[in-house]
Amino acid sequence: MSITCTIHRGTHEIGGTCIELSSGNTRIILDIGMPLVNPDGTEFRIKDYDGLSGAELRDRKVLPCVEGLYDWETPTVDAVLISHAHQDHYGFLSHIHPDIPVYMSAGSLKLVEITAAFIGKKSPCNNTLCFSWPSCFQIGAFTIRPHLVDHSSFSAFAFEIEAEGKRIFYSGDFRDHGYLGKAMGWLYRRVSPGVDALIMEGTMLGRENGRARTESVLASEAAELCKNTPGAVLVYQSGQNLSRAVAFYKAARVSKRQCVFDVYMAHVLDEVAHSPGGEGFPDPGNLEFPDIRVWYPKRLTQMLKDKKRASIVQRHQHRKMTLEEVPKNPKKALLFVRPGMEDELASLKWLDGGTLIYSLWEGYKDQEKTRTFLNALQAQGVRVIDLHTSGHADIPTLKRMAYKLQPKCIVPVHTFHRDRYAELFPFPVAELEDGCLEL
Ligand SMILES: [Zn+2]
Repeated sequence: MSITCTIHRGTHEIGGTCIELSSGNTRIILDIGMPLVNPDGTEFRIKDYDGLSGAELRDRKVLPCVEGLYDWETPTVDAVLISHAHQDHYGFLSHIHPDIPVYMSAGSLKLVEITAAFIGKKSPCNNTLCFSWPSCFQIGAFTIRPHLVDHSSFSAFAFEIEAEGKRIFYSGDFRDHGYLGKAMGWLYRRVSPGVDALIMEGTMLGRENGRARTESVLASEAAELCKNTPGAVLVYQSGQNLSRAVAFYKAARVSKRQCVFDVYMAHVLDEVAHSPGGEGFPDPGNLEFPDIRVWYPKRLTQMLKDKKRASIVQRHQHRKMTLEEVPKNPKKALLFVRPGMEDELASLKWLDGGTLIYSLWEGYKDQEKTRTFLNALQAQGVRVIDLHTSGHADIPTLKRMAYKLQPKCIVPVHTFHRDRYAELFPFPVAELEDGCLEL
């Protein structure tokens, strides 16, 4: 085959994805993610490696061993492609050589930059080129066609990559039960079946529970919960899961509650609303959404001021709502919260009788910061209700992709259960090992 595929990380785990394709003299990297788990299965925490140089991280195999990729080496990689703005797909971007161009969507770039701003770090995007969907672009021997997919990260893409008559399709992370589910239909109409290899995620294998709940069903269930809760409703969700923010915004409207984003989510929504594909998001900067308010958690607001990001604080002042305003009518509020805010919430008497909607993967409850946060709220009389749907494809959706693309082989990635692929898909499965060259 005239394309060589090496999976540097991701054949045995969810997260930390890093794939290399080479053809002739051209080498490209698909995603450069931070792991979610250590080799022993415990949670990966980058702060455990504070103070180590990039080369030391590579020597400890925290950074994948990719020659000519990093800032301490002579660059020999032609480009890095980022499928979407989740840390487990771009988290090590700051270590790559600044001369290597990085391709991502304009929406992903926005989210990566916002994350850097809010954790008080420099943006890792120095040499970034935004592709414009659905146009192809060329990197040496490769022609790359990005395909918009539905995922819990805004502006996520799969890549169809061609060189010397061979085609590889990398799914990235995807699903079809979100508001952008229709994008998968567009994708299947554009990609000719018979790809030489389908590198496909399998996050949900081992977690499956039939068909995933759609975001619009989740919005209706959230609206019911809001109607039936006598007190305030709090929501804990990923601040960058914008489909979910839309679902809760809809629930708030239907149940006649005010949607109160914290300044972080307000900023994310405002920024993406001005990116391609972001039109229609409930943007606090848009007067067409008069029922949105913004609250300012003390620690976060101070951090933004300290890091000279006061303009972000200023931007949403006209929508400001203080926590002192809520007790006048708790039944009118749907307030976005997250771990680290428990001290600020601790003194609030009106939380008693309220509901916290936990809208994240169940497994995160094992993390200490989440446990502490949920326990603190429960101790204040808040009941915790789970209401979530995955950002990843359920099994029927995975099967549909395989069936539509008719691959000559499937390469499992981003999964803990690659052994299941052979049983689920009627196509040859190439089980690669991390770092192994094949195809
Ligand atoms: Zn993802």
